[in-house]
Amino acid sequence: ETQAPPVAKFDDLDLSPVMRRALKKAGFEKPSPIQAELIPPALEGLDVIGQARTGTGKTAAFAIPILEQLDSLEDCRDPQAIVVVPTRELADQVGREVERLAYGVPTEIAVLAGGKNIRSQLRQLENGVQIVVGTPGRLHDHLQRRSLRTKDVWCVVLDEADRMLDIGFRPQIERILRRCPRDRQTLLLSATLPPSVQLLAESYMVDPLVIDCCQNEMSVETIEQHYFTIPQDRKQDLLIALLEREKPEQAIVFCRTRRGTDRLYRALSKHYPSCAAMHGDMAQRERDRVLQSLRDRKLKILVATDVVGRGIDISTISHIINYDVPEDSDDYVHRVGRTGRMGRDGVAFTFIVPGQGDFLTSIEQRINKLLIRDKIEGFEAPVK
Ligand code: ADP
Ligand code: MG
Repeated sequence: ETQAPPVAKFDDLDLSPVMRRALKKAGFEKPSPIQAELIPPALEGLDVIGQARTGTGKTAAFAIPILEQLDSLEDCRDPQAIVVVPTRELADQVGREVERLAYGVPTEIAVLAGGKNIRSQLRQLENGVQIVVGTPGRLHDHLQRRSLRTKDVWCVVLDEADRMLDIGFRPQIERILRRCPRDRQTLLLSATLPPSVQLLAESYMVDPLVIDCCQNEMSVETIEQHYFTIPQDRKQDLLIALLEREKPEQAIVFCRTRRGTDRLYRALSKHYPSCAAMHGDMAQRERDRVLQSLRDRKLKILVATDVVGRGIDISTISHIINYDVPEDSDDYVHRVGRTGRMGRDGVAFTFIVPGQGDFLTSIEQRINKLLIRDKIEGFEAPVK
């Protein structure tokens, strides 16, 4: 299949004056590669699979074609587009980004995420909604209650499809897809295209066009990536020394487990009052509050599990610290992608304990680049 060369400017796309104004207002000067490649076929109504790493503007890539083709609430009271995302935080974030791009045009967007009051969601759906953004579990819940009507849905977006399948949402996603009209458009966004994602695409998409913006940028290339080798019981002291040296604007410190996160948070908060923890055991309201204070720059250091490892977009995060190594190299890329958003500078540090040398190699193969070994006096240990 031949594809038209990607456009260089938003002006080359056939966008409405209101959309152009919204893009200007958002400060978007030119389309990112995924936007340049995905928007034209999406506007034509084709099914598209977009593969691109995090922080490359995937949200606007699907939001722009949806907003451009949306009927007004007067013409259609039931949802026209459903965007499915893996986590509650992402649902909020995508909802906000869509709203921002709808600038100047009254648009009813409902964020249907778990952990939120279902009554107000029911009321909102009853009052008329054009775009729904939600997590698979809660969307499925609304389908069963018949509060989410799908007869007028002409576009379904599966955002971070690889992630949603990883966390076991396949049944809910399939039920959502099966309930939507057959002649709808399906857009699938994913950082990676493992067989599970390909299978989903084969079953529920029609001749999808595959756009791969990853080919030459497997590495999160504007991000400086370092590692330390350190014995397990010296990690905490190393972290404190590293934070002293780096004085990050904002940092996310990733831990493997919820308990480990709490433990490290308690230790760190003695040194850093503007520090918080975030993991899946916390109430939704608490998680929202933490994210908001991170956005408001009241928080400097967030200790977190992979709950925040994907998708969260806070452009002021300057440092990513992998206190515990991630599960696999995909998770590494996603964690590190929290910094250096849209080409800004960022730096990442990974703590490697003896015996984890293979993991280092697997990351380096994945990003096609060697991590730089870093040292702080008094904190050194062999890799193997
Ligand atoms: P992804 O979903 O690929 O991880 P996002 O859609 O969250 O990325 O976008 C990352 C950040 O880049 C957001 O803050 C978004 O507003 C911004 N952004 C997206 N497209 C552009 C653009 N064309 N120009 C400038 N900033 C953009
Ligand atoms: Mg995204």
